[in-house]
Amino acid sequence: MLRQYRFPEERSALEKQLSRSVTFDVSVQSAVEEILQEVRQKGDIAVLDYTERFQGVRLSDMVVPQGAIQEAYHNADHSFLAVLEEAYRNIVRFHQYEAEKSFFYEAEGGVVLGQRVTPMQRALLYVPGGQASYPSSVLMNAAPAKVAGVKDIFMTTPCDASGEVNPDILAAAAVAGITSVYKLGGAQAIAAFAYGTRSIPKVDIITGPGNKYVALAKKQVFGHVAIDSIAGPSEVVIIADEMANPEFIVLDMFAQAEHDPDASAVLITPSASLAAAVRECAEARLPGMNRREIIASSMQHNGAIVLVGSLEEACEVSDMIAPEHLELHVEHPWEILPDIHHAGAIFMGGYSCETVGDYFAGPNHTLPTNGTARFFSPLSVRDFVKHTSIISYSKKQMHRCGEKIASFADHEGLQAHAEAVRARLRAL
Ligand code: NAD
Repeated sequence: MLRQYRFPEERSALEKQLSRSVTFDVSVQSAVEEILQEVRQKGDIAVLDYTERFQGVRLSDMVVPQGAIQEAYHNADHSFLAVLEEAYRNIVRFHQYEAEKSFFYEAEGGVVLGQRVTPMQRALLYVPGGQASYPSSVLMNAAPAKVAGVKDIFMTTPCDASGEVNPDILAAAAVAGITSVYKLGGAQAIAAFAYGTRSIPKVDIITGPGNKYVALAKKQVFGHVAIDSIAGPSEVVIIADEMANPEFIVLDMFAQAEHDPDASAVLITPSASLAAAVRECAEARLPGMNRREIIASSMQHNGAIVLVGSLEEACEVSDMIAPEHLELHVEHPWEILPDIHHAGAIFMGGYSCETVGDYFAGPNHTLPTNGTARFFSPLSVRDFVKHTSIISYSKKQMHRCGEKIASFADHEGLQAHAEAVRARLRAL
């Protein structure tokens, strides 16, 4: 089920197996382009038409009534609700540490310079809902938007064929204090909130995961609105030493693989005996897994065991992958942390499994995929704010620096720029 590679000897074969990029086939591209164009031109009618085509229902109202959100909250299983509430508190608490402050400082000559941080006004949180329901996505997207202070937070998720939205999603919305929920999904929902229609507000940012139609639509509307990222299939890398528990490793790899046949799970270890134990345990546990076909396909096509000479070499391979999730099943995880430079989230030690981070710990589970952890970061409060530079120049400083500034403009051949400064120098 899992291919095994020796590093560095089989480096190029390993790179080939693990090469991942966000590409969309032509049929998806043309479908999304058509949807975006139709929604832009025809507004609500196109949104309703596509919803009818993909969800199988002609909606009379695109918005979930307030009463339905409250009803879902009150009818939810009490123990599940308690878990949602505790998870949301943890996520909010973590994101409060991210909040940025405006700054101002006084420079020489009575100059004041600064940067003001203000929240975006309107955000759309996309919560996927085609194949399964993801209340965790509600919490993870809502918390940073709320902490940032976004004024109008909208949520959208595809409804079912009877026009209903999954009650767990609505209960999570109630927990996160989201009151404006739409029943729309796919590229048509992204287009509607990016361009605005008669009954759907144009927003400033769209965040949240989704399938390839949603991901490509977000990519295409970037510029009309801000977006968080283009999420690709999920991935985990596990670095383990001979002390690690093979069953923990196997279940964490399966947890990744059960998402999707494109998901990737890779074990990197200097221990041949651990690799053999993981292989054996994987074979034993697979038949008992509900999603065994998806897991087997993911493990076979996108999974690997990499045998390295040392933990330093393991960190090198992990950096080469720049994984979304990295688990360190080693005796001293904090000791190797400085050797790791690229990962969306790092889970320290055998009891910090990815599932903890997916649902409960606090840091956001929306993480950079496809090696983009080299330059992208997890979803955060920073995504929902913008920065504005503040410049307050004094007469004294204008007198002192004006001619230097005007000569800079002369150099670029921009006469009006230079004159704008010299007019002030003459007025002093
Ligand atoms: P979705 O809400 O992303 O997509 C459903 C919509 O896709 C439908 O409403 C429809 O409008 C559109 N669609 C379906 N077939 C289409 C077609 N042929 N042409 C045009 N549009 C079409 O739900 P999903 O499909 O279940 O996908 C959810 C994705 O989100 C999965 O890949 C899952 O792994 C991912 N996910 C990621 C995270 C994360 O944090 N990274 C969390 C949860 C889910």
